[in-house]
Formats: sequence, structure tokens, C-alpha cells
Amino acid sequence: MRLTKWGYYADFILYPALVVALSLHALGREPSKVAVEWAFAVLGGMASWTLLEYLLHRVVLHHIRPFKGLHAMHHAHPLDLIGTPSWISAALFLGLWLALAHETRPDLAGGVTAGLMMGYLWYVFMHYAVHNLQVRRGSWLFDAKVRHALHHHADVPCNFGVSTNFWDSVFGSGRRCSPGR
Ligand SMILES: [Zn+2]
Ligand SMILES: [Zn+2]
Repeated sequence: MRLTKWGYYADFILYPALVVALSLHALGREPSKVAVEWAFAVLGGMASWTLLEYLLHRVVLHHIRPFKGLHAMHHAHPLDLIGTPSWISAALFLGLWLALAHETRPDLAGGVTAGLMMGYLWYVFMHYAVHNLQVRRGSWLFDAKVRHALHHHADVPCNFGVSTNFWDSVFGSGRRCSPGR
């Protein structure tokens, strides 16, 4: 949905703070005892985010109302301040954290949730960057810009991944600019 300037950039302040708070909570008073498993949980959370991002974008944002309509606004006006309000995404992540903490050890629940949040923050940054930053031709970010521009403009739906094109390769939805275009 349409956001104010503060609302649009709030993720960049809120999420680093939440990641630090969750990590401190997860590591507890004796961090050395749980640090290794916690670190694996963080990596697992980050990797899981990339798949979740792909599925949310491909399925929810492109096929399910009312998200489809809201996402179509972004496709039509890519430079407008349109996004998910931080309080909604943070409430979902924190709800997931509570559910995980109920089912498993607090350090693992905190690690997975912190990893998911880091992945989300990376996605938010990448999506901002591919639309708003001017970058050198040939750089990896330039490739990401071209990939996402194709997502916005190609006649065949493609390139749903923003943080990475890995899942587009796996599910066969990746498309590159053909030479000369
Ligand atoms: Zn889209
Ligand atoms: Zn976009």
C-alpha cells in the first residue's frame, strides 16, 4: 500500500533493532553454549527467506486478492512509495517467533526468526536499490536491476526473486535480456 516517506524507510531502522534484540535474547546469559547452533539457525532462516520471498511474490502478490491489486500498483508506479507497512511485517515475524519458541528451544527460534528478518531486510534493500540506485553497467547490482526490470515489463511472468535469482533458476521462471535488446 502507499506509505509516507517515514513509513517507507522505517524497515531500515526497525529491523536491525529487532535482529539485535532477538539475537541478544536468543543467546541468553551464556552465549558460548548456544552460539554455534544459533548461527546455523540464523543461516537456515536467511536461506528460508529466499524461498519464502519467491513464493510470496509469485503466488500471493501475483494471484491472490487484495494483495494482487496492491502489488499491481507497484508494477504500474515502481518509483512511488508503495510497500508493506513495517508494523504488519514485524507483527507477522514476531508471531512466527512466538509460535517457534513454543515448539522449540528459544535460541533456535530466535536464530531462525533473526535470519528470516535479515533476509527480509536484504530483500527490502535490494528492491529499493534496483528501482532507485544508479549503478555501473556490468556490476552484479546492474544485473539485478535488469532482472527486476524484466519482471516489471516482460509479457511472460518471470524473475520473481529480488534478493537472488536462485529459485527462478530452480522453478524455471528465470529470464535474461536477450543480446542486443
Ligand atoms: Zn511482481
Ligand atoms: Zn519492483
